[in-house]
Amino acid sequence: MLDGKHAIVTGGGTGIGLAIARALADQGAAVTITGRRREVLEEAAGDRLHPLVMDVTDEASVSGGIAQAVEARGPVQICVPNAGVAEGRALHKTDTEFWRRVMATNLDGAFWTIRESLGSMRQTDWGRVIAISSVAGIRGLKGAAAYTASKHGMIGLIRSLSEDYLGQPITFNAVCPGYTDTEIISRNVETIRDRAGISEEEAMKIMVHTNRHKRLIEPEEVSAAVAWLCGPGSQSINGQTIEIMGGQS
Ligand code: NDP
Repeated sequence: MLDGKHAIVTGGGTGIGLAIARALADQGAAVTITGRRREVLEEAAGDRLHPLVMDVTDEASVSGGIAQAVEARGPVQICVPNAGVAEGRALHKTDTEFWRRVMATNLDGAFWTIRESLGSMRQTDWGRVIAISSVAGIRGLKGAAAYTASKHGMIGLIRSLSEDYLGQPITFNAVCPGYTDTEIISRNVETIRDRAGISEEEAMKIMVHTNRHKRLIEPEEVSAAVAWLCGPGSQSINGQTIEIMGGQS
């Protein structure tokens, strides 16, 4: 289905990003997977998965990295800004350094990744931009103002671009997972445990119960939605936020 297409997935060496990269590669795409840790990317690399070290908080790293990927595998036709940090902090404990780190990774990173990918995508006759936002892009998450603002920002970016490119063969959508079973969850369990003085089981229960069907999402459930947005018949789905959380947000 995606034979001959070049996809780029930021944060593609782990978790949700890796599941997306594998799903697109299974459909025949050549997938550039990016992240900061070379060893993690090399471990994830394989048939049609090509590692590229790129820090999404650094504009030059993103523009240089994407130029390198285009040189190696042709125009980017599927762009998945997925790299992100998910850390909660009360506003009175949110210093500028923390705010900037979250915005730089989640929002600046998505902006640069999409802008640099569009340069080559616009020269082709088909393109998909699918941003990995979050339940926090749809509603406010308690104790996570910076994260929530960054994930809302991604949706604003996607909605605006879908208007800018109306009538062109490129669609822009956001996928919004609820709590998904990746490393982020393990890190959050520890944080909630320490902050609230509760057990790991209780901390996990809080997250699981945020998902409407009261279980964690599997990364493959998110990647299935991304693959569907790249599949036949998806060309009129544009400017949408697809919620993957077992029910309404
Ligand atoms: P992971 O921690 O496994 O993935 C985060 C990825 O982003 C890593 O591969 C990491 O690689 C990469 N990354 C982080 N910072 C940078 C950076 N500065 N430059 C380049 N890459 C970076 O967690 P998930 O797979 O769960 O998260 C993926 C996305 O899904 C995130 O945007 C997250 O907000 C979103 N999400 C996750 C949910 C969940 O419950 N797990 C729910 C909703 C949304 P490296 O460290 O090597 O750079």
